[in-house]
Amino acid sequence: MEHTPARAAERRVASAMMRGAVARCPNCGSGKLFRQYLKVANSCANCGEELHHHRADDAPPYFTIFIVGHILIPLVLWVEKSWKPEISTHMLIWLPLAVVLTLTLLPVVKGAVVGLQWALQMHGFELSAKAPRRQGADGAAGPLDDAHEGWTA
Ligand SMILES: [Zn+2]
Repeated sequence: MEHTPARAAERRVASAMMRGAVARCPNCGSGKLFRQYLKVANSCANCGEELHHHRADDAPPYFTIFIVGHILIPLVLWVEKSWKPEISTHMLIWLPLAVVLTLTLLPVVKGAVVGLQWALQMHGFELSAKAPRRQGADGAAGPLDDAHEGWTA
């Protein structure tokens, strides 16, 4: 299938993050974003958009811990205050729930982070990377070539 890169104006952040959150390509919304549980596909099988540029790194675990903590801690405190169960009962409830929530949310959050990076044209997702490299009269790289240094979280 022919590669159809989105124009900058079409890269809406919310749409790209939502597509990523449901494990779909941020460009077309149809192709799979992941080739394994948390392994991002090199490119979209549907539209050919290159996805290997992502640099999600530690951001998905960080945001996932933040979200899971904000869901579970109030529940733990509420259950403790209301029923004062044994510590072993707490462990039986909250440890499996924390694991399940974390493993469920990790690909959702990672997909959203990759979608965000794609929409903001970060780390090689920029449109200029697909265009021929601009060269100055002296053969030096143009300003577009080093303009994408930035957020690496
Ligand atoms: Zn696609």
